[in-house]
Amino acid sequence: MTDEAKLTLVQINDVHGYLEPHHELVWSASEPTFPKLGGFARISTALSQIKSAGGEMLVLDNGDMFHGTYPAVTSKGVDLVDAVNALGIDAMTAHWEFAWGPAHFEHLCQRLHYPMLALNCYRTDDGTRPFKPSAVFDKGQLRIGVIGLAATIIDKSMPPSFSTGRRFDINEEAIAAEITRLRGHEHCDLVVLLSHLGLPQDAQLAARLEGVDVILSGHTHNRLQRAIEIGGTLIIQSGCHGSFLGRLDLLIKGGRISSFEHQLIAVDESFQENAAMAEIVDTIMHPHREYLNRCIGQTNSALHRNLQLFSTMDDLLLAAISTSAGTDIAFSNGWRYGAPIPPGPITINDLWNIIPTNPPVSVTEMSGSEIRHMMEDNLERTFAADPYNQKGGYLKRFRGLTIFGKIENPAGHRIEKIFLGECELEDDEDVAVAFVTEQGVPAKYGHDRRHLDVTAIEALEDYISEGRAQSQTVGRFYVA
Ligand SMILES: [Zn+2]
Repeated sequence: MTDEAKLTLVQINDVHGYLEPHHELVWSASEPTFPKLGGFARISTALSQIKSAGGEMLVLDNGDMFHGTYPAVTSKGVDLVDAVNALGIDAMTAHWEFAWGPAHFEHLCQRLHYPMLALNCYRTDDGTRPFKPSAVFDKGQLRIGVIGLAATIIDKSMPPSFSTGRRFDINEEAIAAEITRLRGHEHCDLVVLLSHLGLPQDAQLAARLEGVDVILSGHTHNRLQRAIEIGGTLIIQSGCHGSFLGRLDLLIKGGRISSFEHQLIAVDESFQENAAMAEIVDTIMHPHREYLNRCIGQTNSALHRNLQLFSTMDDLLLAAISTSAGTDIAFSNGWRYGAPIPPGPITINDLWNIIPTNPPVSVTEMSGSEIRHMMEDNLERTFAADPYNQKGGYLKRFRGLTIFGKIENPAGHRIEKIFLGECELEDDEDVAVAFVTEQGVPAKYGHDRRHLDVTAIEALEDYISEGRAQSQTVGRFYVA
């Protein structure tokens, strides 16, 4: 490269299949607000505007693109292919894309106009990689190496079918070797990590690795207003659901970033819809609109997942599944995805956003001791002091229990007391529990586990259409 060059990195992360504008939770000092953000047609316009300024641009997707809404999950991601190809993405990495098994995803990738990168995904039988670890892009005078890091929890916290014949890791030596190869053999001026590990994990990587200029961080849905600088590495992350784009304008002098500007861009109504993309989205959505727009009830309070220790949206889900199973206690995973539902009507589309996997409602019998161990394990997965041990989402959601504990305590010793109703839960007490998915109650816990003949969405629809959507607060973790 010559002495001075410019590059604009644009980050798209954790879109979760949201093709159209949707409500998003934006905090104000007093209460949440729910503007309509996102949508591929607006994102297209935003990208065109950045490109039309004439500079060099790379558009990178952190993954969790192909799963999370009705059109995404009912087509196993396939219906989104035309739309994502038209966005002009240069490379991606992945997480929920593995929901239909590695073979399906690898097949889907063959239809993408850009590479899927994962340095940390290996075949378990021969140790080879199913995806390229990195890609090199020539942009004007600059040569940029992009390394993909898929979610490492795919074979640890997700259902086993996600990772059949595959394993995932965080291996600093392997990443360092690829950085060396890109800078040496490939003559890259700049190295970017496109990561789906999560922000705490990426911050630790930045502190420990040499030679990383930028980490585009995904998975944890952080809306970083300011880029983080750690040891010469810049880190950004840009929300979720396509509601925001991250823009990082870099000035490179003498092989180093000499200055930068960062913007978290809200994809709001100021971006006119790109007509060609609007048509692609409409073609995908048209067959589903009548079904998805059906109103099934009302909520007086906002339903959302934007808090760590509890969620009004999951309170409703847990109320619905425990009602359909006839239990006092219910568990679900602390999922981060799911567009909020402001006070007002609830549609079928909202239910698919709440729980796009639409699993059966399941029941099992658990002892008090098992519940304690499961929650301790979840607290460690969520709040581990070593970020590489953080494998959860938000805290596991639960109903029927009141738990007091300290988050900062050592692993296995965070919970002080668990109450079932007014009484303390005894270790040898057996209780019936409703749950959804193995992320809700992992297979190693409980006995007499069985699926009921009702899905989560059917349970929600029944519960809401009976006018019971005003979710009761009966399950909280209190920091003691
Ligand atoms: Zn993720």
